[in-house]
Amino acid sequence: MSESEFYVVVGAGHAGGRAVEAMRGAGFAGRIILIGDEPHLPYERPPLSKELLQGRPEAHTPVRDDAFYAENDIDCRLGQRATTLDLDGKIVMLDDGSSVSYDKLLLATGGAVRRLALPGADLANIHYLRTLDDSRAIQGGLGDGKRVVVVGGGFIGLEVAASVRQQGCAVTVLEMADRLMGRAVLPEISAAFLSLHTDQGVNIRLNTGIASFEGDGSVSHAITADGEKIPADMAVVGVGIIPETALAADAGLAVDNGIVVDEFGRTSAPDVYAAGDVTNHLNPLYGRHIRLESWQNAQNQAIAAAKTMCGDTQAYSEVPWMWSDQFDANLQVAGMPESWDRVVFRGNPRSTDFIGFQMAGDRLVGAMSVNRPRDMRVARRLIGGDKPLDDAALADESVSMRDLMR
Ligand SMILES: Cc1cc2nc3c(=O)[nH]c(=O)nc-3n(C[C@H](O)[C@H](O)[C@H](O)COP(=O)(O)OP(=O)(O)OC[C@H]3O[C@@H](n4cnc5c(N)ncnc54)[C@H](O)[C@@H]3O)c2cc1C
Repeated sequence: MSESEFYVVVGAGHAGGRAVEAMRGAGFAGRIILIGDEPHLPYERPPLSKELLQGRPEAHTPVRDDAFYAENDIDCRLGQRATTLDLDGKIVMLDDGSSVSYDKLLLATGGAVRRLALPGADLANIHYLRTLDDSRAIQGGLGDGKRVVVVGGGFIGLEVAASVRQQGCAVTVLEMADRLMGRAVLPEISAAFLSLHTDQGVNIRLNTGIASFEGDGSVSHAITADGEKIPADMAVVGVGIIPETALAADAGLAVDNGIVVDEFGRTSAPDVYAAGDVTNHLNPLYGRHIRLESWQNAQNQAIAAAKTMCGDTQAYSEVPWMWSDQFDANLQVAGMPESWDRVVFRGNPRSTDFIGFQMAGDRLVGAMSVNRPRDMRVARRLIGGDKPLDDAALADESVSMRDLMR
């Protein structure tokens, strides 16, 4: 690492922000250029669908304050998009026609929202939620009694539903599947959140697809696949993201459901690294590649990749973990098992106060909790460990979770 070296980071999101911080933390004294197409310095996204939509702008969470970038001599090129990557010349071209050379490059381009291609999808007041500006636009359109249709009963859709309901809106959620958050959580968790939302007055419509939107300039109705017309002053679509791989793929990097990287964030090209939502990375705990969309992964994979770039080789090897907050319920999911043979519950799975342990033999391979953050902290340490666990003790509230670790 010399002072004359250039490190370039493309994508000024959570991962990009943590990466440049970690580079300076690792003692890199060369030039750092951070390129981001949003007009904002790096920030964390979780508040966008929660506090910020609930009208609490103070919850905005920049990764670091403005002064940090100046004090650490990080050249932030905001509002600029990287358009082409030349691996042989080690050059990144930007959309204003300029270019930057790099000695080492980190791609932290995240994901772009999956957009609906349906009649009426271009009407005004149909929103997607990925950025601070998206969140502000949705929040600015809310008001008591406004009718909001949320398309998608996954994490983002349900967080939006909860937040806008708390702003006095009449909310309908359209979910194609037969349960909420179906790809990510146990059926008991889906059922608990269905009750929670219904009790709070959210109209959840399972097995209901969206066919089109209608309106005169601005959306007035969402039309379901069954032909039902649901009045809407606003629609928010939350149907997932697509990893932003175009730059990498066009340059010839290995891409397969994300940029393929090893446990150190190394891509298929020398001196090119990637981190965050955009990667399909090798997780050494599982011995397979996974792509995650979570705060933990954006934060810690980026730090590991940045340290590796600086010569302090560090593998990213963690039990995947994420959370969601909806009304007064905190949901946490840990582990990513491909299979398990049974689920043991501590607490009542028909309430909003329980944890489910996914067991394979006598080993814990995953856990999901509702309003049990302390139990989850212990579960995260037990997952993937070599401690045999007993179903009866796991289920028994009188046995402390900490005792299970002994
Ligand atoms: C509304 C919302 C709520 C969330 N809540 C939670 C939660 O409660 N818990 C949890 O664990 N996770 C949550 N997440 C997920 C978490 O925020 C993401 O996993 C994380 O933000 C990913 O960070 P990233 O830096 O990899 O990607 P991103 O945050 O997507 O950042 C990538 C950045 O790169 C920019 N970019 C892309 N291509 C280019 C290019 N060619 N040139 C320049 N810039 C480019 C993008 O515009 C973006 O600014 C939430 C996400 C959202 C959207």
